[in-house]
Amino acid sequence: MISIPNDIQLHDKTIQFLESSQKMLIGGEWVSAKSGATFPTLNPANGELLAEIPLADTTDVNAAVSAARKAFDSIWLPKITPAKRASLIWKLTELMKRDLQVFMELETLDNGKPLNKAKYDVLGAINHFRYYSGWATKIEGATIPVSSNKLVYTKKEALGVVGLIVPWNFPLMMCAWKLAPALACGNCCILKPAEQTPLTALYLGKLIQEAGFPDGVVNIVTGPGTPTGEAITSHMDIDKVSFTGSTIVGRKIMAAAAQSNLKKVSLELGGKSPNVIFDDADLKAVMKGVHWSSFYNTGQECTLGSRLYVHRKVYDQVLEGLKVNAQKLTLANGLTSPDLGPMVSEKQMNTVLDYIASGQEEGAELITGGARATGELSNGYFIPPTIFSHNDDQLKIVQEEIFGPVVSVSPFEDFEEIVHRANDTRYGLAAAVWTKDISKAHRFANACKAGTVWINAYDLFDPAVPFGGYKESGIGKEMGKSAIDLYTQEKAVWVAL
Ligand code: NAP
Ligand code: MG
Repeated sequence: MISIPNDIQLHDKTIQFLESSQKMLIGGEWVSAKSGATFPTLNPANGELLAEIPLADTTDVNAAVSAARKAFDSIWLPKITPAKRASLIWKLTELMKRDLQVFMELETLDNGKPLNKAKYDVLGAINHFRYYSGWATKIEGATIPVSSNKLVYTKKEALGVVGLIVPWNFPLMMCAWKLAPALACGNCCILKPAEQTPLTALYLGKLIQEAGFPDGVVNIVTGPGTPTGEAITSHMDIDKVSFTGSTIVGRKIMAAAAQSNLKKVSLELGGKSPNVIFDDADLKAVMKGVHWSSFYNTGQECTLGSRLYVHRKVYDQVLEGLKVNAQKLTLANGLTSPDLGPMVSEKQMNTVLDYIASGQEEGAELITGGARATGELSNGYFIPPTIFSHNDDQLKIVQEEIFGPVVSVSPFEDFEEIVHRANDTRYGLAAAVWTKDISKAHRFANACKAGTVWINAYDLFDPAVPFGGYKESGIGKEMGKSAIDLYTQEKAVWVAL
């Protein structure tokens, strides 16, 4: 029996799901790993075991790929029309809405995030499937006028079998970002959730079956990067791998693709996003949002505004306001809907604590936070919001992605300087600028080497808007029309007239 805070009542379906033995979805069957191996998934709020999960190796991944290939060749491509694909994806969204509370609870238990924030994630995932349900019937080719008496038309065709590897920070939402366009485009999928957070992906598998997707169209294999992830990335019969995670693993995935069948690769990787506040910004709006852009999801967010640059004229004021707001953020077991939950794992917590130590050793000034939470929270992996003030962009905490509730704040003087400093990173996922001067805002957006720029806002997303990194933050754009290109290939057909 799992322990939950007083006054919290879990949904019957959540309890039932947690009490059932966990299996993977391969070819429409719920199965254990062939080897019988399992691994634990824990509740990071208290370190307790939530479930034992099958640990897939090459044998299991091979079985999943065979099932996906068979479904692609025999049913999904030849027999299911785009309109039918659309209606299956739409049906899935209705089932997800029905089980909203269950998804929220499983996400909170497995990942640690506050229940009310898990709700945004689940609703976001539902919206994503809805949006791509609409796309299934609108994937068109073109006719191309050529310089001879020929008819040329193009088709956008599904790739075939795609491997989808997702991280633990937004577990269900990341599944949706990949599954929704992959399915809308007509592919069959091998989904691998992160080992820390497999539960919502497995629950989604139940609803995929209930919605009526043919067996083998979606297969869900669970396990760590080695061996499960590697069995996917090195597989000779997977046509594409779509990966979200760290830049380090992204490199390994490209190498595995290159050394196997040159499968296509798209990557959503890390970030170290600059959040720039000019002295003419609406400081009220800044103070309302800057603690969220610095600490949302306990900092475990690829777009986190982890490098905060504040014009010298308002530096003290903003730093003080940020400190006061950060100290007000509540930390607790996510089921009680605090502002922030724990780090996802002990390992991630220790990584973040090491970065905090390095910030102190390298001479950054610690403004608040800086140590693991104690007392009632000491069983879980809690780190309070941590702020460093500094004048040196070469510090490790300023250059490397920490993926925790740590923000580095530094003053700047002028536009040219801050553009240079904002871009002084190997990452290029996102950036934000706060100013009332619209021409300055657009000049900054123009100069910024990042895939997304927010002006007087932070962390806005919509399924219709492309998202993805410049530089070492990734290859390819997810979301919007762009994701259709990620999951299709173009064929040109020539006709002699
Ligand atoms: P990670 O260690 O790179 O893992 C991501 C996924 O890859 C997990 O499912 C992981 O499996 C798997 N994996 C690990 N090694 C692998 C290998 N050799 N071959 C194939 N798969 C492998 O990242 P994470 O720690 O889960 O997530 C944090 C990172 O993700 C951060 O760097 C963050 O910026 C990035 N991220 C980026 C975005 C974005 O959209 N750009 C969004 C969210 C997160 P196991 O964990 O089960 O071993
Ligand atoms: Mg977990």
